[in-house]
Amino acid sequence: METEEQKAHRRALAKIRYDADPEKQLRRQRAWRAKNAEKVREKNRIRASAAYAQMTPEEKETRRAYVNEYRKRPGVMEAKRASYHKNKEKHKEKIREYNRKRYQEQPERFREVNHGMVFATGQTIASMYAEQDGKCAICQRPLPKGKNTHVDHDHSITDGSPNVRALLCHSDNLMIGRAHEDAARLRAGADYLEKMHQKLRAAQDPPEPEKVV
Ligand SMILES: [Zn+2]
Repeated sequence: METEEQKAHRRALAKIRYDADPEKQLRRQRAWRAKNAEKVREKNRIRASAAYAQMTPEEKETRRAYVNEYRKRPGVMEAKRASYHKNKEKHKEKIREYNRKRYQEQPERFREVNHGMVFATGQTIASMYAEQDGKCAICQRPLPKGKNTHVDHDHSITDGSPNVRALLCHSDNLMIGRAHEDAARLRAGADYLEKMHQKLRAAQDPPEPEKVV
C-alpha cells in the first residue's frame, strides 16, 4: 500500500511531467485508460459506491429520482437490454463469481439460506422431501431435486409462527401464487373446468330425438 507521502510525491512528479508537455501526458493517460479499461471501471465503481454511501437519505432520494428519469429517456432501456443480452454470459459468470466469494466468506450463512434452512416447524427441506416421498404435495409428480422444488408458505401468517406448508413443483407453486392463496377461488376454478367441459360435451352430442310412434 502506498503511503500518503509516496502518493504526494507521485502526484508532484506527474504534475511536473504534465506541465512540461500537457499534450503528451494526455495522450499517455488516454492510452493507459484504454489499455486498463477494466481497472478504470472497477475504480470508478468503488468511488461511486463510496460516494453513495456518504450521501444523506435526501441526496440518495434525489439521485434515485434522477436515475428513474434517466431510464425513461428514449433508447436508454433498449440499450441496457441489448448490452445485457450481448454480455449475458459475462453477467452470469459475474453472479457466479459473487456467489462463490460469498460462500467462501460465510459458508454457514450461505448454507442456511440455501439448504440447511430449518423452518419454524423444525423441518428442513430434506426432511420435508423425505416426508413427501419426493413428490409434489398437490399433483404428486416427482419433485426434481434443485431449483424446481419450491417451499410453499402461508403468507397470511405474518406473526412469525410456523407458516411453511409443503414442497410444491414449480407449476403448482405458481398456481397457488397466481390465485393469491385463495382456496375458494381455486375451488371455483376447478368447478368451472368441470362445468364447462360437461357443457361443451353436451353441445356436441345432442340427445337422440324421441321416436314418434
Ligand atoms: Zn405439482
